[in-house]
Amino acid sequence: MSFNNLGLSAALLKSIQEKGYSKPSEIQEQAIPEILKGNDILAGAQTGTGKTAAFALPLLNRLQNAESKRRRVRVLVLVPTRELASQVGESFRDYGSNLRFKTSTLYGGVSINTQIDKLKKGVDIVVATPGRLLDHLNQKTLNLSELETFVLDEADRMLDMGFIRDIKKILNYLPDEKQNLLFSATFPKEIKSLADSLLNSPKRIQVRSNNSTADKVIQVVYPVDKSRKRELLAHCIKEEGWFQVLVFSRTKHGANKLAQQLNKEGIDADAFHGNKSQAQRTRALKDFKDSKTQVLVATDIAARGIDINLLPQVVNFDLPYVPEDYIHRIGRTARAGKEGKAISLVSADEHKLLFDIEKLLKSPIPRETIEGFEPTQNLSTEPPKSKGNNRRRSSSAKGGDKTRSSKGRPSWNKKRNKNTSSKNKRRS
Ligand code: AMP
Repeated sequence: MSFNNLGLSAALLKSIQEKGYSKPSEIQEQAIPEILKGNDILAGAQTGTGKTAAFALPLLNRLQNAESKRRRVRVLVLVPTRELASQVGESFRDYGSNLRFKTSTLYGGVSINTQIDKLKKGVDIVVATPGRLLDHLNQKTLNLSELETFVLDEADRMLDMGFIRDIKKILNYLPDEKQNLLFSATFPKEIKSLADSLLNSPKRIQVRSNNSTADKVIQVVYPVDKSRKRELLAHCIKEEGWFQVLVFSRTKHGANKLAQQLNKEGIDADAFHGNKSQAQRTRALKDFKDSKTQVLVATDIAARGIDINLLPQVVNFDLPYVPEDYIHRIGRTARAGKEGKAISLVSADEHKLLFDIEKLLKSPIPRETIEGFEPTQNLSTEPPKSKGNNRRRSSSAKGGDKTRSSKGRPSWNKKRNKNTSSKNKRRS
């Protein structure tokens, strides 16, 4: 399949060529023709699948086909995080570089007046996070009454971040008659009911299963004592010459502390989390993308939606409490078909979290013990004893917890070491 067969205009095909995309991704192949026809869409797709272009390209095409002299907001894209808003806004500008449409990106943490000035001059496309969008709507600095298409991106993450009520408030400002596109990696029941009330006979598109992001990522677990994780991380960064390493920490405090400790060891590291100002977050991300910073230590929420091409390494300094977050984390590497490596430093107390992740992946993650860092407390290869559920989330947050049964557990009882898997063999 080629982009030429999807019904996109010459101006858009030119932008695609300039971006260097040779063929449409699966979601693009399926979604573009449907969106061009004006259909509603319910798409199961994760970040990294090319989903932004899957809606941005056909929406720009539709705007172009029905071009009007008077500027008004015709497309609204609602996203969960500032970084994603910035990226999606940039995508619209990039893909529309040969067209005359104006895109405005609205998110908090930066001056609202600058945004108001821009809106006054007239925009066609708005990409926004819910809080700031509501500020504009309440202050009447934005009028969405003539909206033609509403895109709800990463709907499940919106739910996780507590935005569902804001979304419902925002829907009251939108006209009933419009095209609606909903993208989500997972479909918990709140998202299903939102989809039922929002979408009009939607085309259902599912590009990959939830854990498929893992396919192109080489994953490995380094068992290590908790107290020696930082030392092991610094060792790997130095010994293996890792560059552009995205390290996940469970807490903001932990991220700050780790970045500081790495700096002390002469490794250029920065922290990236929700307590940083927007200016600090933008700068940290830019320095990391420009390879000025070697290591970015991030929390899950902040790292959501970061799109850095060719990110070679992702490290889980702590395992996440929510197994699905592991999939999101490792999806930061091996983006757009490239191969990447995800390393998890796992201590004995994280055994259950690892079990939950392996259960979700439906396969064990190979383990490799690093010489000189052999753990004094062994990371068990047995399933944890069931003592109720300690996952820190409500069962509704991710489509209901699956009850664990010994039947469904992955067969990880084979002890793995560096000789068991050539794909996962560590360079020495
Ligand atoms: P997304 O899933 O929208 O976050 O996109 C992930 C990455 O894939 C971005 O860096 C895009 O620039 C890139 N991308 C999108 N579509 C294609 C394509 N057809 N071929 C190659 N890369 C693409």
